[in-house]
Amino acid sequence: MRVVYSPAHLGHDIASETVMGLEIPANEVTERAERIKAALEADGGFPIEAPKEHGEGPITAVHDPGLVRFLAEAWDQMVAEGVDHPSLMPEALNVRALTEGMGGAANGAGGALEPRGSISGRAGFWAFDTSSPIVAGTYAASRAAVDVALTAADAVVDGEAAVYGLCRPPGHHAARSMYGGYCFFNNAAIAADAIARTTGEPVAILDLDYHHGNGTQQIFWRRGDVLYVSLHADPERAYPFYLGRADEVGAGPGTGANLNIPLPARTTNAQYLRALDRGIEKIASTPGSIVVVSLGLDTYVDDPICDFALTTEVYHEVGRRVAALGRRLVILQEGGYHRPTLGANVRAWLRGAEGRPHEG
Ligand SMILES: [Zn+2]
Repeated sequence: MRVVYSPAHLGHDIASETVMGLEIPANEVTERAERIKAALEADGGFPIEAPKEHGEGPITAVHDPGLVRFLAEAWDQMVAEGVDHPSLMPEALNVRALTEGMGGAANGAGGALEPRGSISGRAGFWAFDTSSPIVAGTYAASRAAVDVALTAADAVVDGEAAVYGLCRPPGHHAARSMYGGYCFFNNAAIAADAIARTTGEPVAILDLDYHHGNGTQQIFWRRGDVLYVSLHADPERAYPFYLGRADEVGAGPGTGANLNIPLPARTTNAQYLRALDRGIEKIASTPGSIVVVSLGLDTYVDDPICDFALTTEVYHEVGRRVAALGRRLVILQEGGYHRPTLGANVRAWLRGAEGRPHEG
């Protein structure tokens, strides 16, 4: 299987993140992608190629141009302001309830106006959490991750059965006009949108990350041409908390084109496969020939920030079942934070999708 990878992700080099006020060593680190790359190289069956540049057009087809501008300018503005921090994180978030009941009278009513003065205000306008630090190389890495996704998508549109895009940073938490959850641009959404426009066919996104892909759901909420199916931890207990419930089914032309399957803590291989079959049935019941897979391996039993109980063996079976849909696959990396097994888990999934045995 062809693999698309860019070393630009190394510039998004994060040392720490803040979780509930506690500064901890970062989980979404450069080592993740390097471990995956090393495991695929060692396998011998995964030729690695560089992404092609696709420009800003496919990004602004999905994201607010203001978000792109902010991410492009953020680090330089922080340096110009003389803020000597290792990374940029917002101070006050643009929480829409700040202006509840104020109508259009106040700046920010409806979240309409970006404060253009301080970098702190700008960051809080576009961010939805405090766990997604920006450093000098974040924008270049995020642009490269989009190009990785789009290059994989091009190859599949051109006829490849399955291509893997080693995206880092991940993307599925990034909404149309907000970044967060370690995500800046929504790689899978940008790829799915581009595929839908290029082929004129409906596209399905199958999100297998432990966390709900709130950004992907939001972007396609009112679209009937992009089906979003997600298996994830119940947001009652897990990030991103405010989206991912089973009764969120889309709206307008997108009604019925959003399927959330929230799962309990300590979900087992067998439970997961049953849920997966539900998701696969939903995709099979809709037209289209390409599936974009948001592949997260933070469903693994030893993942340090998650609580499912999946094992390496089941990833091979998950890949096999997804491929058995008979659709072409654009497989894009999302989360997965247990670094010692991350490469082996991705490799197992991809080998399953190719119909190769788990080992050998
Ligand atoms: Zn995740």
